[in-house]
Amino acid sequence: MQVRPYELIIVGAGPAGSATALFLLHHRPDLQGRILLLERRSFPREKFCAGALGGRADRLLEEIGVRIEVPSVAIDGLMLSLPDGRVERTPGGIGRVIRRREFDHALALVARDRGAELLEGHGVRTFTVDKGGVEVSTGRERFRGRALVGADGVGSTVRRALGLPFGRLKASVVEVDTERVSGDPPDHLLHFDVTDRTYRGYAWDFPTPLKGRVMVSRGLYVLSYDGSTVPEVTDLLAERLRAQGLCIQDYRVKRMAERGIELHRPTARPRILLVGEAAGIDPITGEGIAQAVQYGSVAGRYLAERLRTGRLSFRDWRLRLASSDLGKDLAFRRLLAQGCYRWGRHPFERLFLDRPEALEFGAAIFAGRVRPWRKWASKILPGQSPAS
Ligand SMILES: Cc1cc2nc3c(=O)[nH]c(=O)nc-3n(C[C@H](O)[C@H](O)[C@H](O)COP(=O)(O)OP(=O)(O)OC[C@H]3O[C@@H](n4cnc5c(N)ncnc54)[C@H](O)[C@@H]3O)c2cc1C
Repeated sequence: MQVRPYELIIVGAGPAGSATALFLLHHRPDLQGRILLLERRSFPREKFCAGALGGRADRLLEEIGVRIEVPSVAIDGLMLSLPDGRVERTPGGIGRVIRRREFDHALALVARDRGAELLEGHGVRTFTVDKGGVEVSTGRERFRGRALVGADGVGSTVRRALGLPFGRLKASVVEVDTERVSGDPPDHLLHFDVTDRTYRGYAWDFPTPLKGRVMVSRGLYVLSYDGSTVPEVTDLLAERLRAQGLCIQDYRVKRMAERGIELHRPTARPRILLVGEAAGIDPITGEGIAQAVQYGSVAGRYLAERLRTGRLSFRDWRLRLASSDLGKDLAFRRLLAQGCYRWGRHPFERLFLDRPEALEFGAAIFAGRVRPWRKWASKILPGQSPAS
């Protein structure tokens, strides 16, 4: 079998894989034609996801001249239902909701147009690392690269092959797309509902652009924290839908897992590093699309430099990640998950009710508008005047 040589092989053409290729090519346009993006499935492919895309992803992509034009619903704010009340903040323009079938396809095509070689229907089965590089087999073909990026999502083959643990922050997620019902929030808001205390997580109602209309993605994100057992999420969603006057049997139920990052665990080996959900995402909300793009931005810059210098041990990838905006954001969210689920949710819920600015802060994180932090601290922290 002929072995085809590349500078870098990226496994998985979801947002993390395509973004890594795009940012790398931005920093190293000389690598055109020498980056291989291997995707197991064929575009357009479906990815179970509610499609809420934080504005920071579009902002980052715009920095390298990329705008993904797909049907979207613009999002202006957040609504949070708590056991003791409801909070809403609408700062405006915080992101949009897309369909992954369209978004991922369009992003992969831009990566291809900018010089990555995209091979669809090529699932990586095995790989070996030697002194000179990495050799990958898809069963049908073999490819050789100087380095490899695992961007192959929650069940990452690359991660498994490296023997890296999958960690304890696993979530069960279930969703359906339905018509709107009375009582739904307006189309420009993402609604998070944490009123049900029988599980660690939340229910959502997000607008979603489907077949030329705005429908509603409804779902449940339930986190298993410290190995806790997760209740049957489909039953929980059925119950919630019933309360909304909907019957789960009338809809296609889409169920999948998600995995939160554990920043202290390794996400690289010599010549191989992980990005996106293969590395781990936000455990508190399960948000992962914008983070996948952020991973691409950090990895693209890192790889540009490492492929140039030949320092491919990737020993400091975890450190590079931790010191990036993405790493700080993930660390903050990890801490929040710990706070809510180990120490108790009540103080956090009280904070949102007493200081709705905290929800605006959440919206700013989603949008990528958190700087300066001091401004938010003075708005939210106890002892400060909300008006200051
Ligand atoms: C129900 C649900 C709702 C969600 N809602 C949201 C939301 O509203 N907003 C948000 O930000 N996040 C959401 N998420 C999380 C988000 O979908 C993921 O975190 C995000 O897709 C991660 O991107 P990624 O590129 O790392 O992985 P993926 O998007 O999973 O992409 C991985 C790619 O790798 C390919 N692949 C896998 N194995 C191989 C292999 N061996 N060889 C080659 N290719 C391979 C896959 O086919 C896929 O195309 C949701 C998740 C779920 C399950």
